[in-house]
Amino acid sequence: TSTLRLILGDQLNASHSWFKQVDPNVVYLIAELGQEASYVTHHVQKVCAFFASMAQFAQALSKSGHQVMYLTLDDTQHYADLPALLENITTTQQLTIFEYQQPDEYRLAQQLSELALPKVSKNSYDTEHFLLPFADIQREFTPNKHVKMEFFYRRMRKRFNVLMQEGEPLGGQWNFDQQNRASFKKNDLADVPAPLVFANDVSDILARLKRHNINTIGKAESQLLWPVNRRQSRELLDFFCQHLLIRFGHFQDAMTENSRADWSLYHSRLSFALNAKIISPSEVINKVIAHWQAHQHDISLAQVEGFVRQILGWREYVRGIYWCNMPNYATKNALQALRPLPGYFWTANTKMNCMHHAIKQSLDYAYAHHIQRLMVTGCFSLLAGINPDEVDHWYLGIYIDAIEWVEMPNTRGMTQFADGGIVATKPYAASGNYLNKMSDYCKSCHYNVKLKTEHNACPFNSLYWHFIQRHQDQFKRNPRMAMVYKNWQKMDVHTQQAIINKADSLLENIESL
Ligand code: FAD
Ligand code: SF4
Repeated sequence: TSTLRLILGDQLNASHSWFKQVDPNVVYLIAELGQEASYVTHHVQKVCAFFASMAQFAQALSKSGHQVMYLTLDDTQHYADLPALLENITTTQQLTIFEYQQPDEYRLAQQLSELALPKVSKNSYDTEHFLLPFADIQREFTPNKHVKMEFFYRRMRKRFNVLMQEGEPLGGQWNFDQQNRASFKKNDLADVPAPLVFANDVSDILARLKRHNINTIGKAESQLLWPVNRRQSRELLDFFCQHLLIRFGHFQDAMTENSRADWSLYHSRLSFALNAKIISPSEVINKVIAHWQAHQHDISLAQVEGFVRQILGWREYVRGIYWCNMPNYATKNALQALRPLPGYFWTANTKMNCMHHAIKQSLDYAYAHHIQRLMVTGCFSLLAGINPDEVDHWYLGIYIDAIEWVEMPNTRGMTQFADGGIVATKPYAASGNYLNKMSDYCKSCHYNVKLKTEHNACPFNSLYWHFIQRHQDQFKRNPRMAMVYKNWQKMDVHTQQAIINKADSLLENIESL
């Protein structure tokens, strides 16, 4: 054996050309690493999902005849970091070539590009996962410049011929958002299917995390419900096609606390399998479109387009934004937000029912759907002016699918406007009214969504105007915000002052909201 090939935890792509042939000169390294389990405080289910998937991948590779070195935390505990481990293996086993797939995360890409192993040559490969080739990112994106997702998405549709007919978008339009995005009515809730969950035994991983003092957050489950191999990921994809696609777009933005409806509603929960590369974006897109083609009388194009947009559009887009703007992106704080993250982000102990639900669900399942992330916890952090480093840290740790390339543009960019508008053309700021429209959270909340300044007024209301007022220099001239500033100006000075005073007092007592 002469060659060591590294497979990182989010590089579990069985279709990679590396694996086309069994080469006796190659040994594959898959390793649980302390540095990966603790670069941020992760949700315990997230660490279990990665470690369990890595073990399954290693088994599958060995079964196909490849040489695999699988190391657990017990084996790697004495190495300070990944370079130290690699140096030890290549030296003791007298390996002369080290190969790796280009990491998607800046931190790891730096670490591996700086790596110099004595007497070992180094090669890097593409991960063969994304649709947009890495080299084309520079053509699609410009550093520090806003790129409109909608136009990027249309270019991707054309380039990869997805939902196209003779050069035109299928159905005559690119976007069906107008038909989507309804909230649940009472009778809708009984129809929400129970999610397909798995029961992967991760008790040995939990024991290892304890043994090695890996600090985690969230509810530990010895039966992990997330998919950890290709078979389970495909089952989840099939389940999505058969039961959820039909209303995916329609209820994409809806939220509920009703216990008759389940926690992931009509969402696919494929993000972990996708981000670990267990399943590829083109496989997901092709499968969903094929299913729709066979069931066109039941499923509308709007549902399918809404879903394809998330993967072919948003997912590829945020990766481009990340790679085009790193490393500067990680330090951006355009709105100079400096407040610490309130303690209830880690406990869900808050009287704000929407926040309680979004956080509790995240702690229980390592999951919240897009609108919970964007318009509940994200919007609250934006309005309250929470430091984007702390907001990033929370999102990067808590979600099953959180890897920096996708987490950061969504968090720092889309929700916090800390990138000054590279992702969003206006901040995703909203008052309680939006949450009341899209959810049933307000009905049983301690606060009253209709009130702004009273003792039990919904905090989102005064904080919203406080945000609008304190950032008027940034946003007053933004045409998409003109209406909002007009409404603010229409209020009399006393009302304005009462709202600002209320928000100030909420911010002073932010820990007790
Ligand atoms: P579905 O609703 O079923 O959507 C299907 C797929 O589309 C997802 O699996 C995902 O791969 C893709 N997708 C949808 N929206 C986005 C988006 N905005 N950006 C990138 N891909 C998208 N997604 C992550 O994968 N990792 C993260 O760390 C992450 N952090 C986020 C942080 C914030 C503040 C916000 C607002 C969004 C974040 N997202 C992240 C995007 C999105 O919320 C999740 O991808 C989605 O909720 C995952 O659940 P799902 O698989 O059920 O998605
Ligand atoms: Fe959230 Fe306000 Fe509604 Fe309560 S009233 S659930 S705090 S939006």
